[in-house]
Amino acid sequence: MNIDEIRELDGKYYMNTFGERIPVAFKSGSGIKLESTEGETYYDFFAGIAVNCLGHGHKRLTEELCDQVKNLMHTSSVYYIENQAHLAKILVENSCADRVFFGNTGAEANEGAIKIAKKYFYDRGIDKTEFITLKNSFHGRTLATVAATGQEKYQKPYKPLMEKFIHVEANNCEGLSGAVGEKTAGIMLELIQGESGVRPLSKEFVDLAAYLAKKFNAFLIIDEVQTGIGRTGKLFAYEHYGIEPDIFTLAKGLGGGITIGAVCARGRAAEAFKPGDHGTTFGGNPLSTRAGLVVMDELLNNGVLKNAEEVGSYLISGLESIAERSGSIAEIRGKGLMIGVEFKEDMAKEIGNKLFDKKILVGVVGTKVLRIVPPLIITKNEADILISALDELL
Ligand SMILES: *Cc1c(COP(=O)(O)O)cnc(C)c1O
Repeated sequence: MNIDEIRELDGKYYMNTFGERIPVAFKSGSGIKLESTEGETYYDFFAGIAVNCLGHGHKRLTEELCDQVKNLMHTSSVYYIENQAHLAKILVENSCADRVFFGNTGAEANEGAIKIAKKYFYDRGIDKTEFITLKNSFHGRTLATVAATGQEKYQKPYKPLMEKFIHVEANNCEGLSGAVGEKTAGIMLELIQGESGVRPLSKEFVDLAAYLAKKFNAFLIIDEVQTGIGRTGKLFAYEHYGIEPDIFTLAKGLGGGITIGAVCARGRAAEAFKPGDHGTTFGGNPLSTRAGLVVMDELLNNGVLKNAEEVGSYLISGLESIAERSGSIAEIRGKGLMIGVEFKEDMAKEIGNKLFDKKILVGVVGTKVLRIVPPLIITKNEADILISALDELL
């Protein structure tokens, strides 16, 4: 099918939640390149919203997944699953967590985190049912995670929402101190807010959240769905802040493109679920956990994590030097390969479109920000493609 035929089918049969999509469909990919149905090659600095960390058509990931598909895809968690147990071990050994539970998406992982906190206090007869989250946060599209998400546009049609999520301003220490109290079960944060434009939290604010969680016997929950798995140049973004969350969640990068999510918990949070408290049909199946095993091994033992840090710094400094020369950029934000370019004027869409015309894919957030989240295997030469294109445009 060509793009016009695909668009016609989509327009007629698919629920219209995405509005007018970017008018392209892809049929194959290799590294950071994608080939469209019209035979054109694009450079992917978006990675399917920070998902395809090993790029497209990664040789080892493809081979191991083909092998897994041939042997076994799904058995249910009624039975033991070797890849599931093995991936849980790798995540625990490389994080502050003691135990892991796999689901399929980021929203599901965050639901798991919320349930762990509720279950822990319920079991002890402690009246803690409130959660603190941030304005402009994003935690998913299920009803509980929409309630957690601090953006009116996602919540409005679905009210009344699940009690009780209190949204405080990011980096406003006074606001946070005023909101946390005896009823607080958890404080849930993205350390770099992704969907609202790559906005990092200050160290001071995160330290305060950790302090308040401890003081009020609440769980510190870090949503690493986007920032985790090497995206920021460290395996988990919490490492940049020198904190150890009670619970953190993963999804996007963990399967390198295969759907998998994880809720990872430490200490008392790791023991909160008892048999029957939580479950899943698909979560942690042999296929998705095989993908996770390859991704983790490539990151930790094949240089991909180091590459993300190095090329991330290179790309950020390249973008910063453009910002110095051109008067139109307000700020370059982010860490590793999670980068936001904020313009002074409402020109993000126009620049995003012009980059698209140059066959370069980036994300556009709101009216002012470009979100740049390429595969973690990107080389410096490939990073230069975006740097020179932006330089030319600005
Ligand atoms: C994408 C994202 C989610 C939701 O993940 P889904 O897989 O779409 O459910 C949650 N939190 C953060 C920080 C995200 O970036």
